[in-house]
Amino acid sequence: MSAPLDVLVVGAGPTGLTLALQAVAHGARVRVVDRRPAALRPSRALIAHARTLEVLRPLGVTGDLLAGADTAPRARLHLGRHEVAVELGELDLPDTAFPHLTFVRQAHVEAVLGEALASRGVTVERGTELVAAVEEPADVAATLRSAGAVEVVHTAAVAGCDGVDSTVRSLAGIGWPGGAARPEVVLADVDLEGALERGVAHVVAGRHGLVFLFALGECAPWRLLATRVVADRLRPGGPGPPVPDDELQGLLDAAGLPVRLTAAPWSERIALQHRLADRFRAGRLFLAGDAAHAWSPAGGQGMNTGVQDAAGLGWRLALVGASSGPERLLDSYSAERRPVAAQLLSMTRLLFWGESATGPLASTLRGVVAPLAAPLAPALLQHRRLVGRGFRLLAQLDQGYRGGAVGGRGSTPHAGRLRPGDRVRDGTVACGGRAVRLHELLARPGVHLLLDRNAPDPAIGPGPLLHLHRLTSSPGRGVVAVRPDGHAGFTSGAVDGELVRWLRSIGAVPAR
Ligand SMILES: Cc1cc2nc3c(=O)[nH]c(=O)nc-3n(C[C@H](O)[C@H](O)[C@H](O)COP(=O)(O)OP(=O)(O)OC[C@H]3O[C@@H](n4cnc5c(N)ncnc54)[C@H](O)[C@@H]3O)c2cc1C
Repeated sequence: MSAPLDVLVVGAGPTGLTLALQAVAHGARVRVVDRRPAALRPSRALIAHARTLEVLRPLGVTGDLLAGADTAPRARLHLGRHEVAVELGELDLPDTAFPHLTFVRQAHVEAVLGEALASRGVTVERGTELVAAVEEPADVAATLRSAGAVEVVHTAAVAGCDGVDSTVRSLAGIGWPGGAARPEVVLADVDLEGALERGVAHVVAGRHGLVFLFALGECAPWRLLATRVVADRLRPGGPGPPVPDDELQGLLDAAGLPVRLTAAPWSERIALQHRLADRFRAGRLFLAGDAAHAWSPAGGQGMNTGVQDAAGLGWRLALVGASSGPERLLDSYSAERRPVAAQLLSMTRLLFWGESATGPLASTLRGVVAPLAAPLAPALLQHRRLVGRGFRLLAQLDQGYRGGAVGGRGSTPHAGRLRPGDRVRDGTVACGGRAVRLHELLARPGVHLLLDRNAPDPAIGPGPLLHLHRLTSSPGRGVVAVRPDGHAGFTSGAVDGELVRWLRSIGAVPAR
């Protein structure tokens, strides 16, 4: 007998909400629980990257997300006595519909995802926590506790999107190697008096660390983010204590900003850690987002990676199914996403060292070398290609999963450059007698078959989660099948039984 639930999502942060939305959009029966009684909490993430917006697009939320975002952000870098203006609105990223950095509050992202989920009939069950999960022969028995009531639910899979202190991770017995970072982060919403250009982000590189001021405060006009090393180290996880006003003013003074703090209605100390779960799956328990990896905010990767993990897992749990899906396909989620997280862990570690370390090398780089190099910065920033490359890396636009277990190739190679696992890049194609951006065609849940101009019709017709597009701009007789997360799944120079077999293997069409 199949479980009455396909996925129990634990945690309604950006990762859990995305996963739930994607799984529901692909036909799964889903419940989402979160131990927090209230939906709203102070935002941590303020930056969304292009790849994140791409994976969210088929879920129909990017319009609402961008309506509450700044897609042409401007920043001022303060390097010693020099100020450098940076425009982040038109980056050299021709293969995405989102060629810009996006400033958006995490709270807005969560609100939009929560509303989209509610519109599909799934309401987050708040004040409800997972306390136990036991694998049984056919499913998982998960114990939920809320306001004194205890309920046992049977589910095919548990998705642990429950943050750095993940209960699912401990219940699954998955190792969590790594350690705490020495510097901590201070976040505060502040009002300031003084000569500071409004409406732009300010980034100050000083000997003691980096200080950011974003015009994105929630309880006051500015959001301050600073790194510092303190004697009384906090334990990572959970909300930290507030920061006294004089210490906040001290951070602004040390950065050399000519401002006086007039109010700080909210502040928090945050201890950081660098960790990576040993596995992202144990049986029918899966990990995604901060439950699977933890790092510093350098480069704005946490929420972005969590959303991208979710976009890799939600459709698998819906289409492949945790109760009957082949092991190698269920394992392929971890096999694809864990190496990405390992790479990001190294990258964010290095970036955070540059931002926050107080040893002589890092302090000299920020406090002496950066100001000396400042006059070169405008010329460097004019180099659109170079800047674009930096943002490709941060946005994870070149991440792919070649050689993975989901990929399939027909007996005749496809003439194009795409290989199974590659991200399908955006670009203009001809389809249905018009020129159209490819990602516009892919902006619906499901698997998309991109048929070459002279390809025969496949033996299997379109359906609610199987879309056919004939690209008359693509010569040949082959096909590329695009997975729901925008990666190529199957490529072939011919349309034949291999395609249908691959579609069956991932549950995109029913098994015979
Ligand atoms: C200072 C700072 C700045 C940052 N800036 C950025 C940025 O610009 N860009 C970016 O991408 N990332 C950024 N991040 C990281 C980002 O905030 C996190 O990576 C993101 O919140 C992770 O989302 P998540 O859904 O995986 O986990 P969380 O947001 O931690 O959500 C987990 C949820 O699970 C719930 N939960 C926990 N245990 C249980 C249980 N047993 N039962 C039920 N519910 C449970 C919790 O209540 C919580 O709501 C920043 C982080 C910090 C600290």
